[in-house]
Amino acid sequence: MDLIALAVPFFLLLLLVELVVDRIRRTGHYRSNDAINSLSAGILSTTSGYFTKIIQWTIWGFVFSNFAIFEMQRSWFDTSLSGIGLWIVAGLGWDFCYYWNHRLGHEISILWAAHAVHHQSEDYNLSTALRQTSTSFLLSWIFYVPLFLLGFPVDVLITVGAINLIYQFWVHTQQVDRLGVLDRILVTPSNHRAHHAQNERYIDKNYGGIFVLWDRLFGTFEEESDDDPVVFGVRKPLANWNPFWANFQVYNYLLFDARHTERWRDKIGLWFRRTGWRPADVEARFPKAPSDLLTFKKFSPELSRRQSYYVMGQFIVVILLALLIADIFADHGSAAVLLPCLLLWSLLYTLGLLNEGRAHAAKFELLRLFVVVPLTVSVMSNDILTVTPYVWVLVVSYILVSSLCLKKS
Ligand SMILES: [Zn+2]
Ligand SMILES: [Zn+2]
Repeated sequence: MDLIALAVPFFLLLLLVELVVDRIRRTGHYRSNDAINSLSAGILSTTSGYFTKIIQWTIWGFVFSNFAIFEMQRSWFDTSLSGIGLWIVAGLGWDFCYYWNHRLGHEISILWAAHAVHHQSEDYNLSTALRQTSTSFLLSWIFYVPLFLLGFPVDVLITVGAINLIYQFWVHTQQVDRLGVLDRILVTPSNHRAHHAQNERYIDKNYGGIFVLWDRLFGTFEEESDDDPVVFGVRKPLANWNPFWANFQVYNYLLFDARHTERWRDKIGLWFRRTGWRPADVEARFPKAPSDLLTFKKFSPELSRRQSYYVMGQFIVVILLALLIADIFADHGSAAVLLPCLLLWSLLYTLGLLNEGRAHAAKFELLRLFVVVPLTVSVMSNDILTVTPYVWVLVVSYILVSSLCLKKS
């Protein structure tokens, strides 16, 4: 049972509710370009995960099967004290490991390169929650290995891990104010807003997943303050709506420094140093201006109303395609979704270009509509996916309507 997949309709529903509340209250916490970019990063993370998650499952399974220290018995409906205790300890254990995963995800360069994606949004709303990295498969799983080594049952850990992630959704909102004592025990909208800030006071604070008690215990807790209103985003802005680039941005900074520094020790070492550290020779040759919150402006290229509507319309296609792919993946696994994913990713890429109002965006979109779409759909037909004449009528209509709308936008 994939709890996260089950939660997706509720995520989308709550997001719509927040959007309506935002419009009624006129709080202006949603910009369509930023929200679409966050959701695109989330969809890229989920769909690339169909191919990369196998790495962590395999390693966790291997550790559990071969090296588990304790043998723990449990069944789903075990209401004995030890049964309930096991779930609570596993949940707390996961949250503790999450704290360190998240903390080092900010403090160590190579881990920040993966996690930064979640922080690039310069707005803060429920779409930010879904803005997830596509490269956590590289190292993040390491932090949870001790739990498998201890011998917690795999499905218990997977379940508490999913609950931990689902819990974190609701804290990404500005519509919920401070919650008093809860802000000092649990991760809440207030203390997680501070975590997403680029203000000096809040940097490297509030790493908890469900309990913020870990932060209080390890000295990384900071309350949101009226004296220092949160400015959301990262200090080296993404300034781009391409979800692929969002995942590569920080790796690219590190690759640049590794290429240009002279010493081999630094070429390798800089990946594992404190985030922001640069070799002295690279710093001297290619200095970076410090960020200045006083001059900070949100990235928001101007689009005409029709261009915005075009992007929003195509984004509905993205969501439908992503839901279809999730369905196929659940029944048939990774191989069956490769081509549909390529189709989806090409759409995410061109939507990024269109959202930026780039001069060549329309050419890319036409190429996608008239070459990529028919080509992938025609080779997609196999035992699992049958492309019937009815589907072709739908695809051709989509291409024609989209190209007409694109011409007018
Ligand atoms: Zn973070
Ligand atoms: Zn967050």
